[in-house]
Amino acid sequence: MSKAKDVEVRMSDEDLKFFEELLKQRRAKLVEELRNIEDSNLFTSQSNHGGELSGYTNHLADAASDYTTLDTNFGLAEREGRYLTYIERALSRIKKGTYGVCNTCKELIPKRRLEAVPTATRCVSCKEEGKKQEALEMQMEMAKQKKK
Ligand SMILES: [Zn+2]
Repeated sequence: MSKAKDVEVRMSDEDLKFFEELLKQRRAKLVEELRNIEDSNLFTSQSNHGGELSGYTNHLADAASDYTTLDTNFGLAEREGRYLTYIERALSRIKKGTYGVCNTCKELIPKRRLEAVPTATRCVSCKEEGKKQEALEMQMEMAKQKKK
């Protein structure tokens, strides 16, 4: 029997527990933020109901500096909603015991990276490799289009 091979890389239960807590904290904070955004959206749409169109356009012009506009909030809610999905996925990976293992090279992702990005599914080098690959594919696509 070969020993070193076929051994599944996984985090210790202690570490899994640590990141489970971390993810749950992030989730609780995010849910609260999303609730706040929803509340302010409700307020914005109500106040715009009887409003004039010109007033609304002026409002949009200020969007860059005004963080309470509907558009900005919507984008924020969407982004945070997506992040919430990542957190849920990370939590289910913790349950399965596959959390903290790089999707690509199947090695453990350094804990320091996970503390910074608890939803990470790849180690830094594989992520960089993926980016390079993407850039290369894009260059090839562009080269192809030039030939046409
Ligand atoms: Zn990797």
